Amino acid sequence: MSGPGGSGFVAALRAMMRHDLDVAMVSEVRDAETMRLILTTAAVGHLVLTALHAPDGAEAIHRLLAVGGVDRSILAGNLLGVLTQRLVRLSCPECRRPERIRTTDVKALGLSGREAARRAVYNRGCAKCRHTGFRGRTAVGELLVVTPTVRRSIETGAIPEALRASLPTGFKPLRDELLQRVWSGEVSPREAAMVVS
Ligand SMILES: [Zn+2]
Repeated sequence: MSGPGGSGFVAALRAMMRHDLDVAMVSEVRDAETMRLILTTAAVGHLVLTALHAPDGAEAIHRLLAVGGVDRSILAGNLLGVLTQRLVRLSCPECRRPERIRTTDVKALGLSGREAARRAVYNRGCAKCRHTGFRGRTAVGELLVVTPTVRRSIETGAIPEALRASLPTGFKPLRDELLQRVWSGEVSPREAAMVVS
């Protein structure tokens, strides 16, 4: 089997789909043929999981459509959701010190008003963290569920900006999840800024 994009990959995928699996995992969607195949599989009731590189869910949907191969309504009708994940480094608890958030981080995180004036932890590095300032990693994420409103945005091609604007009130963007970790002292503003940018 060649890598994604090669005809050998699609042929192997097609053979796999014929085995009538309940769940199929496709490493990534890079070409129209793979896109068509996974959506045809999803349309008949199989759960298909795949991954791609994108900054958030709205942009991921935009990129899926840019791959081509399917109509917007087919994607809208068969996509259940997009989970965006980032691995972030946790601040070392031994050497973190609260201080005013540095201007570059305020800018990168898009903070304003009271939030911009808040204190958060920065690390100096110590023997415990081998002078890196980090001890371990954690995953932060956002889950974009395709609700009827989101579906309509995909169908009308109103992505990614209008789709972001139409997200339900309960939706928690990746940036908010990151900021929560910043305010709790688990993640430094510098690390959060690097993740969002
Ligand atoms: Zn340390």
